[in-house]
Amino acid sequence: MPSIPSHKPYRVGRSRTGLGLFATKPIKKGTKIIRYFGPLLDSKKKEEDAIENKYLFELTNRWTIDGSVRENIARYINHACKPNAESDVKPRKRKVFIRAIKDIEPGEEINYDYGTDYFKAYLKPIGCKCDACEKKRKKKRAEARAERARLKAKAERKALKKAEKQAKAEAELKEKLRAKAARKLKKKLNGHALDGKSLNGGSRAKVAGKKSVGRKRPAPAPALQA
Ligand SMILES: [Zn+2]
Repeated sequence: MPSIPSHKPYRVGRSRTGLGLFATKPIKKGTKIIRYFGPLLDSKKKEEDAIENKYLFELTNRWTIDGSVRENIARYINHACKPNAESDVKPRKRKVFIRAIKDIEPGEEINYDYGTDYFKAYLKPIGCKCDACEKKRKKKRAEARAERARLKAKAERKALKKAEKQAKAEAELKEKLRAKAARKLKKKLNGHALDGKSLNGGSRAKVAGKKSVGRKRPAPAPALQA
């Protein structure tokens, strides 16, 4: 890691995405923190226009700072979608300063918005890892989890309702069958009671009638005999 004079309010340190620049002292909003510097590339010169790296800072259509040089400590500053600093571009002076746009506390990572072009080219494809985007992702994950839990609870409620309905239907069927069986039994018992009665009277006539039919048949015989 590069050595930084101790009077500077920042240091290079480990960040979520690798290295980053961190405040070591309170930095007031509006303070110029560090200059973003490096060789100036002239797009009118073919060999300079052909240079390609992640640290190019376009000043104007013609001039670009190549910030990939080791001495450019500002190159350690990571992008953030809701940053605490900004790049203050002085095109005519061909200079860029990183300036605090919020009060920054010691230990806080310093960051600025790299701009739409950089974001689209380098960050969007891999997913921006800045605090704001991580928070958004975390929130989305939590929401998705909550939604899954809600759907699961709903499915469980539905299954429980179904089971209850089925149990009720089964109980009703059982009751119906029990009642039917009870009716059948009652009928049978009543039938026995009737049979009993018939033995003592009620149906005797019928029985007697039957018997009498049986008796009637041989009846003509005596007539013939007579
Ligand atoms: Zn972001």
